[in-house]
Amino acid sequence: MALSFSQLKKIAEGKTKIIYENPDDAGTVFMVFKDDITAGDGVKHDIIQGKALVDWQTNKDIFEYLNRKGVRTHYIESPEEKVSLVRKLDFKINLEVVSRRVAAGSILKWGGEAEGKRYDPVITQFHYKDDPLHDPMLDDTYIDYIIKAKKDGDMFADMRSLNATIFTVLEAAFAAFRIQLVDFKLEYGMIDGKATVIDEITGGSFRLWPYAKDNPDLNQANVLSELNPAGRLDKDTYRQGEALDAVMNKFAQIAKITSGFGELP
Ligand code: 5GP
Repeated sequence: MALSFSQLKKIAEGKTKIIYENPDDAGTVFMVFKDDITAGDGVKHDIIQGKALVDWQTNKDIFEYLNRKGVRTHYIESPEEKVSLVRKLDFKINLEVVSRRVAAGSILKWGGEAEGKRYDPVITQFHYKDDPLHDPMLDDTYIDYIIKAKKDGDMFADMRSLNATIFTVLEAAFAAFRIQLVDFKLEYGMIDGKATVIDEITGGSFRLWPYAKDNPDLNQANVLSELNPAGRLDKDTYRQGEALDAVMNKFAQIAKITSGFGELP
């Protein structure tokens, strides 16, 4: 039987999802995807018919894959289209945790890096989640201090290592489809006293650049010549002002690729 969300209590509404209580289980909530797309911390905003469905599909495929790989996530199942059932949090951690394999996006500006520079191991940064402040990056010295000196230090150490581990897990999955995971952003909450991956992982969460060659050499100091950023499959198409149907087409391609994650070992 289809769920009737008009009858359920809305707990929260974000830019791309609504969270409803689950009347049958206080330990879980429903996450319902919206057709909205935003960029620039909410400054740019559009609605793309059908985007909720493809994001839901991508999110389902990725979380099912991570759960299968033993990663601690909030995701349980997707009871119907555009709806996921997830574990309720003890509390949300107001951070965005970004990991990067290849230099792109904001690091080119504030880090002065050459586009395509390869990081090994991946680098991980914490950002304080606040749209009006544009999610400022937290100083690593401060994070290291919290890890060593504070009561909740373990939580930060866990997020740092989980983020890098998840990056390599998803990087290997996309590699099977000849795509480089360039960078991504994850969010965390506390469940049963442990930092756990929450929120959504969709085309807006990462950069994906297809391989440019049959046999790319991805172990060089700079891998730009091996990849095809112009063929990107991610929200940069929207950030860069491409037409909404082109953006939708990219998100649909992502869902098509992640639908193959179930076949991966
Ligand atoms: P950058 O710092 O280069 O803008 O972003 C690094 C990575 O994190 C990219 O994959 C980007 O999509 C993701 N990211 C950064 N900030 C946000 C955000 O506020 N929302 C979402 N959905 N992704 C973000």
